[in-house]
Amino acid sequence: DISNESKELKRNDQAYLLHPWGSLSENTNDEPMIIESANGVYVTDSDRNQYLDAIGGMWCMTLGYGNEDLALTMQEQAVRMPYYTPFGSMSNIPAVQLAKKLAALAPGDLNIVHYTNSGSTAVDSAIRFCHYYFNATGKESKKIILSRKDAYHGSTYLGASLSGKAWDRTCFQYMDTLVHHLSSPHSYRRPPHIAEENFCNYLLNEMEEAIQQLGADNIACFIAEPILASGGVIVPPNGYHQRAQELMKRHNILFVSDEVVTGFGRLGHFFSSNIHFGLDPDIIITAKGLTSGYAPLGAIILSEHLAREIKETHLKNPVFTNGYTYSGHPIACAVALKNIELMEKMALCEHVRSIGPYFIERLQELEKYPIVGDIRGHHLMACIEFRASNAYSPIPTLEDIAIAQAVDTHCQRLGLLVRPYESLCILSPPLIINEQQIDSMINILQ
Ligand code: PLP
Repeated sequence: DISNESKELKRNDQAYLLHPWGSLSENTNDEPMIIESANGVYVTDSDRNQYLDAIGGMWCMTLGYGNEDLALTMQEQAVRMPYYTPFGSMSNIPAVQLAKKLAALAPGDLNIVHYTNSGSTAVDSAIRFCHYYFNATGKESKKIILSRKDAYHGSTYLGASLSGKAWDRTCFQYMDTLVHHLSSPHSYRRPPHIAEENFCNYLLNEMEEAIQQLGADNIACFIAEPILASGGVIVPPNGYHQRAQELMKRHNILFVSDEVVTGFGRLGHFFSSNIHFGLDPDIIITAKGLTSGYAPLGAIILSEHLAREIKETHLKNPVFTNGYTYSGHPIACAVALKNIELMEKMALCEHVRSIGPYFIERLQELEKYPIVGDIRGHHLMACIEFRASNAYSPIPTLEDIAIAQAVDTHCQRLGLLVRPYESLCILSPPLIINEQQIDSMINILQ
């Protein structure tokens, strides 16, 4: 029967699987939740409980579950031609078509696409490209990467080194000589002596001092999520992005915008760097919503001016020795193309632009509860930060974290999946969510 089958699955999960961010400790008594089927914004577990998925899988299920057009596209491509090597001069039809489409959607002269398997491998590739560019143009000393505390840039060793979430930085030997972490632009947890209106200046002064200390000749790039996602939906203060970009341009430091979460409609546009934040980055990184989570795929979109400069140097070995067996995988590229076609047909970005403010407004109703410290977000990317007391703390306390965990457990019982992280409850529902579903999410949270 269902209950025995489900128990058996959970036993095997515990016996044979180490999950991402999973624990091998004997002390965890967390029972695995096995998701068996899904439709629209709802998922069903192996015990036949249904939940509204306010996490959107992992920020990625933008078109929602059970989309037959996406599934059929994958099937058709698998039958026609499931795979061929992308290396060197070999290519495939969906990869070419998708590259042309991404170039059309990306801002400015970002017209050259390099595929990867995921966000992490895209981050790694973007940094390798920055080093390749500076090596090629005779500035070999430019190697350091500026990143930020609270950033999340993935789980390769380099991605993890760029990430700045304190809790994750245990048990590993990070590449800290290559990476310099600036302060998090986290207004809610800013140092208490800094007034909110001075916070942007404080961050920019620190950035300028860091460049001076490290030496612009040693710095390759600044990698930044326009809104820090997993670090806690941290929206930098007004003016931060443009001033940071101006500083980087002045010092010939490349600006790499990690839009793995903020791209593909979550903020109401295919890319948010230019539209919401006035940026014209040298490289944009994308993944997740690119395929609406139906297949793993990432990409970096490079500025033509960088490519042109590299071409003009007439390198002896012009090869960018970076890539993966599954770069530009035909099934993943085909589903990404179909995803974009459907997003355009459904006017999904317009839908997010109209429903996003409603979502944030409804969420802000929760500010009245004393355990709620902060509510922040942008369109369909939001989080609630819990606090056990009003006392200032630069990091969440154990009591703050316990509240988030209790909220998570209770929501789950009531049929809502939220994502607890430290003292946060992160919300990133599928973009197809409607007002009524938002209302039921808020009711459960309430
Ligand atoms: N960059 C950002 C901003 C992310 O949020 C993530 C994942 O959450 C990544 C990179 C890594 O992507 P992936 O998990 O596909 O490797």
